[in-house]
Amino acid sequence: MELRIGVIGMGAIGREHGKRLMEKITGCTVTAVADINVEGAAKFAEQYGAKVYQEGEDLINDSNVDAVVVTSWDEAHAKYVLASIAAGKYVFCEKPLATKIEECEAILEAEEKFGKRIVQVGFMRRYDPDYVALKEIIKSGKIGQPMMVHACHRNMTHASNMTSEMSIKNSGIHEIDVLRWLLDDDYVEGQVILPRQSRISAEEGLQDPQIMMLRTTEGIAIDVEISQSSGYGYDIQCEVVGDLGTARLPDPSSVVTRTDCSCAFGVMPGWETRFIDAYNIEFQKWVNEVKADCITGPSSWDGYVACVTAHTLGEARVEGGVKPIITKECPEFYK
Ligand code: NAP
Repeated sequence: MELRIGVIGMGAIGREHGKRLMEKITGCTVTAVADINVEGAAKFAEQYGAKVYQEGEDLINDSNVDAVVVTSWDEAHAKYVLASIAAGKYVFCEKPLATKIEECEAILEAEEKFGKRIVQVGFMRRYDPDYVALKEIIKSGKIGQPMMVHACHRNMTHASNMTSEMSIKNSGIHEIDVLRWLLDDDYVEGQVILPRQSRISAEEGLQDPQIMMLRTTEGIAIDVEISQSSGYGYDIQCEVVGDLGTARLPDPSSVVTRTDCSCAFGVMPGWETRFIDAYNIEFQKWVNEVKADCITGPSSWDGYVACVTAHTLGEARVEGGVKPIITKECPEFYK
């Protein structure tokens, strides 16, 4: 039987995921969509024959919805995840799990009380074939013991509501999660370094770029550049330096041209294309696992750790200096 999915938030990624679930992923169908802006959702609903709601809670309680995908704006994630747990429905929540640490804690508590994992967070980079290959190289021991990571997340441009704080909590959170997963290690301290301000972002009052510095329990030192206005493309890079060698993410493949005494290859314009394989793999696996009643993807615990780390870095950005990253003890339930 097909898994009947309801999608809350039909903005940019809600429409992408909705289309993906209808056209690419097998074993599921989108039966309902919700958005505070009903008109935007109605267009999708009409095309695919889904029901439209204005309130996410009504979609969650629809008996024709077996599982929920939350793609509304960051601040609304927690309430829909909590409502889905209360309704006993599997819920896939785009990152971040929540914008406040207390909200993440409430989700952990509610899910544990429910008695089984039903929340998955959309940290899709864990499914990207290049990141998966990088993790395998690290695990194989080929580059020795990892000592450092140099990474960068550059957006071509950013939404008009982007702030210095969101740059870490919304964009940087991908790096926070994927590097912890890649190294199979946790963070102990963090700091934010502010380089010379980009003139483009300065006009919008945005502190940009920022460099997140993290240290893990094994002593691995990480630097991640977060830039919101590269102006040339969406560029994600990661190099892991071990004591026997280094390993780095490849650039996404594209045709190389040689003309006018120059050699060039393309850079992806945005997340939609750069991580298209990752999203497809992530959702196919989630649908299969929900149907098998056992999910294994990024958990509420991962969402909580990322939230605590992003908050600590946010404080470090404002106050300066190195801050300890302190989380609760991981409950058995999430181990
Ligand atoms: P967006 O284009 O602004 O879409 C958000 C949508 O949610 C808008 O249609 C918005 O309506 C609607 N919305 C806001 N509050 C709502 C509520 N209470 N109930 C229902 N709908 C509500 O943003 P987006 O780029 O799609 O991002 C959505 C989420 O996905 C964000 O949390 C973002 O962090 C995440 N995201 C993840 C990735 C990834 O790579 N994994 C990439 C992009 C985005 P209005 O337009 O009327 O405000």
